[in-house]
Amino acid sequence: MKTALVEGARRGAEPGLKGVCPGCDQPVLARCGKKRVWHWAHKVECNCPLNKEETDWHRGWKNHFPVEWQEVFHSDINGERHFADVKTKNSWVLEFQHSPISSEERASRNKVYGKITWVVHLYRQQETKRFFEMANGGLALPGHPYTVIVEKKGNYLLSDWGEGIKPVLFDIEGNEVCWLMLPIENENLAYFAKVKKNDFINLHISEDQNCGYTKLLNHTFQIISGVLQKKKGNARKVKLPPLNKPSVQDTLGYRVVPRPRLSRRRRRF
Ligand SMILES: [Zn+2]
Repeated sequence: MKTALVEGARRGAEPGLKGVCPGCDQPVLARCGKKRVWHWAHKVECNCPLNKEETDWHRGWKNHFPVEWQEVFHSDINGERHFADVKTKNSWVLEFQHSPISSEERASRNKVYGKITWVVHLYRQQETKRFFEMANGGLALPGHPYTVIVEKKGNYLLSDWGEGIKPVLFDIEGNEVCWLMLPIENENLAYFAKVKKNDFINLHISEDQNCGYTKLLNHTFQIISGVLQKKKGNARKVKLPPLNKPSVQDTLGYRVVPRPRLSRRRRRF
């Protein structure tokens, strides 16, 4: 892990420092070798939420953000300790996922953190290939080439991540452009905004008073509902994927006719 408590303060590992794990209160060792990035390690095996091996990908993502945003403590209603990989100044929790995670664990973290975005690493050749097969078969919205609707059908990645409950950013190895899946629940379709990795990071870091990231989500959402409304009135001009002919209501997971309170609740940002 990146930081431990040294005389009550969060510090990175340095030679000679003695630390305590903020997750389990056990003593931890400062590992300051030449091969790996300096880090803290538990002295004994335990079930501590911070006792996990991190990949370079995971650490790399965390290090794009200030150290005080990393490994932020949360307690759930049962008093169980959780540590958000990153929690931004606008209270967005970012969880970086390199390996598979059970749907129970995912649901539990969704609940604990509420305002969460998953960042999922796609690095296996086969899964990257399948992702692009699916993504490239999608429909870029007219006038909005970075907003894409795709069919989930048969894609195992989306059977895992495609619930549309929370935003999911797919970080595809070797690609600067990530695919951000919007939190819109739909059985057949998934809605994406293509965003550069650096832009995603900067939207969280920028000093803008309003959260740039939330603005991006809202903006994309408005584009989608705008196009679908248009579709209702002028189906011939706007071509959408011919999927069991979902109604506008089904497609967005809620009514497009403005009903602010309902839509805010269902979007779950
Ligand atoms: Zn611990």
